[in-house]
Amino acid sequence: MNDCIFCKIAGGTIPATLLHDSERVIAFRDLNPQGPQHVLVVPKRHIATINDLTPADAALTGEMVNVARQVAADLGIAEQGYRLVFNCNADGGQSVYHIHLHLIGGRSMRWPPG
Ligand code: 5GP
Ligand code: ZN
Repeated sequence: MNDCIFCKIAGGTIPATLLHDSERVIAFRDLNPQGPQHVLVVPKRHIATINDLTPADAALTGEMVNVARQVAADLGIAEQGYRLVFNCNADGGQSVYHIHLHLIGGRSMRWPPG
């Protein structure tokens, strides 16, 4: 049995607030948002980490960035700007081992602030 939480969200067995749902990719709101807007862009296919990608996945990862761009526009934060992040493995701070692109915005992400 696949215990992956993002596979379950993609399969519809765990609820999430979906902002995008297409053939290969979904986007939904993060449960513990790090900003006014925090969305996860996730491929429906299970891929554990960025290290597991191959060159053949270039179209899929490109599609994820494109979905993030689209969702940012839909949320009205495209002009102000936003941050896109992939965390990989322990040092990267990855906690869910199914790749996901964080889209965070609605506040300044600059550090130090200014
Ligand atoms: P990571 O730390 O792996 O880069 O990011 C995992 C993200 O998934 C975290 O920001 C966390 O808040 C989010 N998350 C974990 N479990 C769930 C869940 O069941 N539903 C949703 N919507 N987000 C989750
Ligand atoms: Zn998965």
